[in-house]
Amino acid sequence: MTVAAILSSKGREVATTTAAKTVAEAAAVLARKKIGALVVLEGDRIAGIISERDIVRAIAATGGAALTEPIDAIMTRTVVTCTDAETIDSVMARMTRGRFRHLPVVRGGKLDGIVSIGDVVKARISQVEREAEDMRAYIATA
Ligand code: AMP
Repeated sequence: MTVAAILSSKGREVATTTAAKTVAEAAAVLARKKIGALVVLEGDRIAGIISERDIVRAIAATGGAALTEPIDAIMTRTVVTCTDAETIDSVMARMTRGRFRHLPVVRGGKLDGIVSIGDVVKARISQVEREAEDMRAYIATA
């Protein structure tokens, strides 16, 4: 199963922001959309990613003052991405190795979706359930 299969059911829309917005604005969007990360864009280019973990870390380090800082001050700049041709196992391994839960999908250098660890685990569970069902059907007819 590939990333494309996940995107075909969840869609390719990505919640994005820009580096000049404040950390408080990012937190508000994450809360409103009930998501864990925003991709930071500069035009079409991926300039970074900001997740709830970055915000928690910044508040722990500076107190409430972090909330009025620009996203630019706390975002991760080196963003690991994937393509939609990659397998679920491969993106799961990359998330585990990198210790992050979000992987933007790129096509031709442009943002074209995002998968979270939740999407990946859900797809993997469905796959395992389907395989078990096929096996049961096979045994029943053998
Ligand atoms: P997360 O587990 O996705 O909430 O993110 C944990 C940390 O990894 C945060 O510092 C994020 O900014 C960073 N991060 C999240 N996704 C990525 C990614 N695809 N590439 C690089 N860093 C990331």
